[in-house]
Amino acid sequence: FARNSGEPEFHQAVAEVLDCLGPVLERHPEYFDLDIIRRLCEPERQIIFRVPWIDDSGRVHINRGFRVEFNSALGPYKGGLRFHPSVNLGIVKFLGFEQIFKNSLTGLPLGGGKGGADFDPRGKSEREVMVFCQSFMTELHRHIGEHTDVPAGDIGVGAREIGFLFGQYKRLTNRFEAGVLTGKHTHWGGSQARTEATGYGLVFFVRELLATKGRALDGASVAVSGAGNVAIYAIEKAQQLGAKVVTASDSSGVIYDPDGIKLEALKRIKLERRGRIHEYLDEVPGQAEFREDATSVWDIPVDVALPCATQNEIDAPHAKRLISNGCLCVAEGANMPNTAAAIEIYRETPGMLFGPAKAANSGGVATSALEMQQNASRDSWSFEHTESRLEDIIRQVHQRCRDTAEEFGAPGDYTLGANIAGFSKVVEAMIAQGVV
Ligand code: NDP
Repeated sequence: FARNSGEPEFHQAVAEVLDCLGPVLERHPEYFDLDIIRRLCEPERQIIFRVPWIDDSGRVHINRGFRVEFNSALGPYKGGLRFHPSVNLGIVKFLGFEQIFKNSLTGLPLGGGKGGADFDPRGKSEREVMVFCQSFMTELHRHIGEHTDVPAGDIGVGAREIGFLFGQYKRLTNRFEAGVLTGKHTHWGGSQARTEATGYGLVFFVRELLATKGRALDGASVAVSGAGNVAIYAIEKAQQLGAKVVTASDSSGVIYDPDGIKLEALKRIKLERRGRIHEYLDEVPGQAEFREDATSVWDIPVDVALPCATQNEIDAPHAKRLISNGCLCVAEGANMPNTAAAIEIYRETPGMLFGPAKAANSGGVATSALEMQQNASRDSWSFEHTESRLEDIIRQVHQRCRDTAEEFGAPGDYTLGANIAGFSKVVEAMIAQGVV
């Protein structure tokens, strides 16, 4: 811990994994001799760089850029880029660490990494976002490549930013190397269903979880936080499967619509106008309410809760409230949206279903791997084919977590199942590749 001081989110992510590994370490005492845990917790490479850019008024700004290439035992480093003012090394390390196990769980040949910058895209003009992306890529391009490190989007980085980043990579390298970034527009190398994949995959995972209790999404009430890429497509798929989603939020507050969120209105506000969530009240006159406290989303009684905004958005009192209001399933669309104390509460509540991020939101990276496959073979699959591959992968991720939890004596504990299953595969590969 002293070695990584000032990185509380990284400590939290590591502690969650280590807490689950007791039973596997008992079976494999040789892991201690090989110092596997310390090797796993130390990133293979951490890159920090200056990102200078000039705004529309001619003022110079300096941001800090990061790429943490955490583990390449299973394949090239793979993980998104986050542009948000809160980004620092500890946040990027927590996300990169999580990504190792998530990518392993998908069964696809992907290492783990993550990156980003403390740049705030909100309120910036199109030109400002473009010049920032170009400056960011001017340094990043030396470290990435289709066989080395393949970034994608995350908070603040969507198809628009991936386009600007790709354009600059192409200019600097003089190569149209489609497989260097995923989340590209479908016109020039992107995969169908990548935009929808994390949200859709989350809902497919929830469907599997509920089925273990003989329940279904049809007729269930659902609370979703966030109104970005993950949240919007989680709402879409949940509605397609018959659920009533009653909330959406952003950092300024929550919309509660007891009639069910009108997705077309939300898409107009968030995807077309990049507006704020309260504008929903103008778009959809009726029963909807706006509440300024973004965390009040967890006060609303629902069957299923899907946190899709950011880390640590549900703490222990929120978790208790969700359960006392009758919630039977929480699944993480965002990365680490529950505090350690909240997760402990779910794990101690008999019958409670909890889908940890590593498993529940792995649909995004899995579909990125499908995009890489299409790029490598210069192919382009239909939406239906890609979505059905995604459904298969999520079914397998669910099965792997469930079987592993049972094998290690904790049936129904998906946190333990996801951590042990993800860990075991990475560690076997690390051992086979020697001390490197
Ligand atoms: P977006 O930038 O598209 O959306 C993030 C959303 O969360 C925005 O609506 C944002 O609101 C909201 N938000 C951010 N901070 C808060 C807060 N403190 N309280 C309430 N709302 C907040 O990002 P994504 O949807 O891509 O990512 C969301 C989460 O999902 C992240 O944890 C990310 O790591 C994870 N994830 C994303 C994947 C992907 O494929 N995109 C893959 C796997 C995980 P505002 O605009 O006000 O900031």
